[in-house]
Amino acid sequence: MVTAGVLTEFYEWVTVLDRDSPSAPGDYRRGAPQGRHAHGLMPRGAQLLEEVFPGLLAEMAADGAVRAEMLVGHRFRVGGDELPQVATGLRSVQATLPFHEEHLRRRLLERDGVQFMPGVDVVGLVADDASATGIAGVRIILREPGSTEETIAADLVVDAMGRSGRTPYWLEQLGYDRPPEERLTVDVAYASRVVRLTPEGAECVRHLVGGDAKGVSRGILMHAVEGGRHVVTVTGSGSDNSPPVDETGFTDFLSTVAPPDVFQAVMAAESVEPISAYRFPTAIWRRYDKLDRFPTGLIVTGEALCSLSPLFAQGMTAAALEAAALRSCLTGGRHDLPRRFFREAARVVAAPWRMGIGANTSERHPRTATRLQAALMGRIMAAATRDAVVATQLVRVLILLDPPTALMRPRVLWSALTKGARVTDSVVPPPSSQVTAAGPDVV
Ligand SMILES: Cc1cc2nc3c(=O)[nH]c(=O)nc-3n(C[C@H](O)[C@H](O)[C@H](O)COP(=O)(O)OP(=O)(O)OC[C@H]3O[C@@H](n4cnc5c(N)ncnc54)[C@H](O)[C@@H]3O)c2cc1C
Repeated sequence: MVTAGVLTEFYEWVTVLDRDSPSAPGDYRRGAPQGRHAHGLMPRGAQLLEEVFPGLLAEMAADGAVRAEMLVGHRFRVGGDELPQVATGLRSVQATLPFHEEHLRRRLLERDGVQFMPGVDVVGLVADDASATGIAGVRIILREPGSTEETIAADLVVDAMGRSGRTPYWLEQLGYDRPPEERLTVDVAYASRVVRLTPEGAECVRHLVGGDAKGVSRGILMHAVEGGRHVVTVTGSGSDNSPPVDETGFTDFLSTVAPPDVFQAVMAAESVEPISAYRFPTAIWRRYDKLDRFPTGLIVTGEALCSLSPLFAQGMTAAALEAAALRSCLTGGRHDLPRRFFREAARVVAAPWRMGIGANTSERHPRTATRLQAALMGRIMAAATRDAVVATQLVRVLILLDPPTALMRPRVLWSALTKGARVTDSVVPPPSSQVTAAGPDVV
């Protein structure tokens, strides 16, 4: 939707197709099952949404989203130690995914020329017979009994169909190569529930509780969200650490990752929704930027382009950064748009992708560079629990505000050396990742 917002600046008509039908405000959609789990919008992403939809953040806050300053009011643990609560001036948006979507959709629909078509399955691309090198639209089937295939013509088709997007297959059908893929085994399971804390519980939890448990690949991310509620998400990597979804199992798991007072606060809370589960096996980066031949009139963005490890909470911000890249490409004209866009989008994606690789601790045969990177990150994380400057720099990198090379500044490295005695082998978040394609260059 943020991409659609950008497109309205350059195209007369923008049509958003989705197989889901509109749900009641706040309802979860079948097409976005991850929406039941904690979804924070990082400050950089929030700032970009505001640029596309001026006034959006104030509207979200007025409707109950929590605008929390990073680190302030955060209880974020690394290997059992909490990061210092220092002012950063960076405010995220804490709300559920349906809330984010609803507000974007509303703002988008206010624009001239925007049309939403829900209940539509996109089933293929339409080749442009005139140019023989382009895409001229999509093939669709309405999700209604007796529907037959139709086409929708478009000057530009944007695949934002999430990680299940079928563009690689459709390209192959049209005689193009599939994009090469980089994959990173993350193997993380999520379990979440929404609760309403007592006033004392809310005081203890503050805005956010996060981080990993000591010595085990388990984590917690607990957010204050709209409606005075909190989303309690627990995560675990590997088969031994899958969080159960039954009451007793979930509670037992929570007790291993939550600080004791937070655990008590959740126990005393009212449960608003049942426990739900999600499994994320592999991060995937489809390298459209590496293809020699690509049709005109088509681009791919969001999770369909790069599905990042969800543990870093960067997906929505990455999608917003890609939308900003698209805007800058379109400002320069439509000539050679896919190639120019994919090159810019690859720059956007490279940093969070490499962070995911840097979090890798259980690769069977890690490259030396990967091992060194993980060791250095371990020391930086440890130093961050003891040094406010390092904590702030680390957060700025994790939220995609600064490049990973900012962690190579002498001030950070000195602190890593002198204060970074290892508290944990993993970085936060702690996925048991495996690199299966290209390796990292920097942290
Ligand atoms: C467990 C989990 C937790 C996450 N936590 C965070 C977080 O805290 N912060 C953050 O920034 N990001 C987070 N993310 C990532 C975030 O959810 C996504 O990056 C974000 O939703 C943007 O995704 P998208 O729009 O590209 O794809 P999606 O959200 O997957 O949307 C794809 C859409 O395409 C539609 N669709 C698919 N195929 C078709 C078809 N053939 N025809 C018609 N429609 C189709 C679907 O219905 C869906 O609406 C998390 C992800 C997961 C899995």
